[in-house]
Amino acid sequence: MVGGAISVQAMRLLLIAYPGAGKGTQAEKLASHYGIVHLSSGALLRNEVLRGTEIGQLAVDYLERGDLVPDALVFEILSTRILDAVRHGGYVLDGFPRTLHQAEEAYSLAQGLEGVTLQAVIYLRVSKGELYKRLVERADLEGRSDDTEAGIAHRFEVFDTQTAALLGFYAKRGLVIDIDGEQSVEKVFADITSAIENLRS
Ligand code: AMP
Repeated sequence: MVGGAISVQAMRLLLIAYPGAGKGTQAEKLASHYGIVHLSSGALLRNEVLRGTEIGQLAVDYLERGDLVPDALVFEILSTRILDAVRHGGYVLDGFPRTLHQAEEAYSLAQGLEGVTLQAVIYLRVSKGELYKRLVERADLEGRSDDTEAGIAHRFEVFDTQTAALLGFYAKRGLVIDIDGEQSVEKVFADITSAIENLRS
């Protein structure tokens, strides 16, 4: 499926941004605004770790280091959830796909299925200085084990080397919406929803 009009029945969005840019916050707001399912790969993985499941045990060291966990684990926790979400109004993905390889595989898996592939990819643009500031604040509030100085630097590097290429992949399909993520939460949300409304009109 390429760009174009967004159907009200099953909205399918992806948020891409560096850690700390506000993906989780905006994804939650979008989910409740449009009545769609928020699927955060990072939150789902952290939950598997907390529950001590087999996936959690296999993923925990990657999460601690800020490295990407193997694709098979990510597909295992997300594939069914994405298909279920499509049947329940749609989804906003936060953190998946995260590499070109994941995006290509997800796209090819979805090819035979109607109304599953992405309709819009929202890129939240935030400067590195501001990201560091926000992540240090988040570390105090949430105590995430990967929000250390070394963990933050490493995840930025992972974004630059493995995730940034996704933007080109989706831009070729005409899906990318570029948003200034350095504004207030409300203004960022208003910019995203107005860009989505433009796609729908
Ligand atoms: P996040 O909450 O999106 O910042 O993700 C936290 C961590 O979860 C990442 O640093 C990775 O270790 C792991 N993770 C989340 N999404 C993915 C993904 N799509 N592929 C591989 N690892 C992921």
